[in-house]
Amino acid sequence: VEIMKKSSKQETVKVIVRCRPLSAQEKENGHSKIVHMRTQVGQIELRNPKDHEDTKDFTFDAIYDENSTQSDLYEETFRDLVDSVLNGYNATIFAYGQTGTGKTHTMEGKSDDPQQRGVIYKCIEHIFEHMAASHNQEEYLVRASYLEIYQEEIRDLLEAESNKKLEIKERPDGGVYVKDLTSRLTRSIAEIQDVMIRGNAHRSVGRTNMNEHSSRSHAIFMITVECSRIGADGESHITVGRLNLVDLAGSERQSKTGATGDRFKEATKINLSLSALGNVIKALVDAKSAHVPYRDSKLTRLLQDSLGGNSKTVMVACIGPASYNYEETIGTLRYANRAK
Ligand code: ADP
Ligand code: MG
Repeated sequence: VEIMKKSSKQETVKVIVRCRPLSAQEKENGHSKIVHMRTQVGQIELRNPKDHEDTKDFTFDAIYDENSTQSDLYEETFRDLVDSVLNGYNATIFAYGQTGTGKTHTMEGKSDDPQQRGVIYKCIEHIFEHMAASHNQEEYLVRASYLEIYQEEIRDLLEAESNKKLEIKERPDGGVYVKDLTSRLTRSIAEIQDVMIRGNAHRSVGRTNMNEHSSRSHAIFMITVECSRIGADGESHITVGRLNLVDLAGSERQSKTGATGDRFKEATKINLSLSALGNVIKALVDAKSAHVPYRDSKLTRLLQDSLGGNSKTVMVACIGPASYNYEETIGTLRYANRAK
């Protein structure tokens, strides 16, 4: 019984690692690559730039090197999740990692180049193509919400004018929802993409430094798919699946010396929610752990009914290949390894 439980739990959480290429700037500055990936066996070797004898090995469910394309990730890792959402289950995709390692590239990518479109675009296409191909015994409703969590406060990105802090509520059946969160009914790929683009624009409203803000807040794009099917009994059955697409705050250690006041408070909160997430995922993977500490942060509480149970979760840990990122890269691989 113990073994079966473990294997079914393992399938629900998958951790993969993606390494971006050296940037032009990094090449120009002569930074060397310290990350070596054996993609066939899922093994990553990390070299200490200060001591060439010192190497560390990590193994993951799947790893993606600098040559990996957005399609590679989608076809091998994400397509299944979206299929499960279409069948009425919840699923979550997280992008984790130091700022500048490719979280937003993986989740969103660049819309103007079809090759560069990230997971969110591909999920949207997949969902609407599935609907178009379905027979007329099935009827779908697709809704989108977009929120961010900044300093443990939830803000609706589709309601820019209100700076209202939203609250998480629990339903009697154990489900969780965000009270008063906007939910847009979308009827086409263009409409739902438009919702995402508007939300992104609102993310930076009132922000003097967008990059800094996005590195300190979590953005969650939620797609809910409701399907009503006529069953063999002639009755209609409704299933609801939700897909959460999460671009996490940067994982770099924020609380280096000198951070005081608001900055310090902010740093502690980012660290808190990322470590709470790590603990929840670890508890889900670890069959022996009976208690899953969802309540430790807004992020994990909000996603409570999409993590564990019948839900599927993929965490993409993003890393950079350059020597000067050595410490942060170890940090990310350790976090990902622990969550595995
Ligand atoms: P993050 O969101 O983690 O801060 P970004 O996604 O903004 O990082 O990526 C930083 C830069 O690196 C961007 O210019 C992005 O286009 C580029 N980049 C990231 N990942 C890749 C990749 N796999 N291939 C090519 N360029 C990438
Ligand atoms: Mg980003």
